[in-house]
Amino acid sequence: LLQLFRPLDVLGWVYRTIRQGLIDMAQMFRLIDTPVEVADLPGAPALLVRRPTVVFDNVRFGYDPDREILHGLSFEVPAGAQVAIVGPSGAGKSTIGRLLFRFYDPSSGRILIDGQDIRHVTQASLRQRIGIVPQDSVLFNDTIGYNIAYGRSGASDAEVMDAARGAAIDRFIAGLPQGLDTEVGERGLKLSGGEKQRVAIARTLLKDPPILLLDEATSALDTRTEQAILATLRNVSADRTSIAIAHRLSTIADADIINVLHEGRLEEQGTHAQLLRHDGLYADMWQRQAAEAIEPVLAAE
Ligand code: ADP
Ligand code: MG
Repeated sequence: LLQLFRPLDVLGWVYRTIRQGLIDMAQMFRLIDTPVEVADLPGAPALLVRRPTVVFDNVRFGYDPDREILHGLSFEVPAGAQVAIVGPSGAGKSTIGRLLFRFYDPSSGRILIDGQDIRHVTQASLRQRIGIVPQDSVLFNDTIGYNIAYGRSGASDAEVMDAARGAAIDRFIAGLPQGLDTEVGERGLKLSGGEKQRVAIARTLLKDPPILLLDEATSALDTRTEQAILATLRNVSADRTSIAIAHRLSTIADADIINVLHEGRLEEQGTHAQLLRHDGLYADMWQRQAAEAIEPVLAAE
């Protein structure tokens, strides 16, 4: 019997690993056919995270060799800090996340987590230490419990509900006809954007990674849902190292450090107050977004 089950176990593991890889990629980039260009070095050790610091050290990168996107980017995320990356669309913000998750390697420069070059450790160990909440989350056509537990296979219902509570979706689940066993997606319940986002946050809480990457995690939501989810994310980020990529500046104004990226270069860096005083690109963007925010009010009058 053992001999019969072992290969099945392995097959199950391979299936789950591939499925996990695909869904992570699909979620972050919404591209199933992204080529896997990156391989582990032979005998690479696992990433060891004691102090979850992240360093980009003079990173250059382009998807095509003749079109560089990041032109020697350097910034640091101290352990436990909340760091934001903002900038116009196309500046290269999401590319930073893809490099950190090691879907691609820099053409030069290094990315370090707790002092280790991420090229020198296994991808599985790297991805286990980073939780991603993408712009709009994709759920499996399975139960809501499965969709949360997927963050850590083998989690008990009690642990799943703890994570659900952290993401403020526990009462919603408790009110469902079959609780955690309720089917979601095409076969079952349709969830709103905000509810799906909370499931993704619960999944990340269960995974409990020391490093969190939020890539415009609330940009697809209406303002009220956004405020509620931001409050949740603030709790989730509190004792972790987090990198929040944002287009809407109001969502990251309280970050410890704000990096302003423009055309693949770091243009400005500081706190919200410092950047407003600096009166450069960030201050410009802030004023423009503030003006946009009151426009609907003016139009309604
Ligand atoms: P942001 O998130 O700041 O809007 P991205 O990092 O997604 O910007 O993209 C930066 C630049 O890289 C853009 O010019 C974009 O067109 C280009 N780009 C993004 N993904 C790919 C890809 N898979 N292949 C080629 N070019 C890409
Ligand atoms: Mg982006």
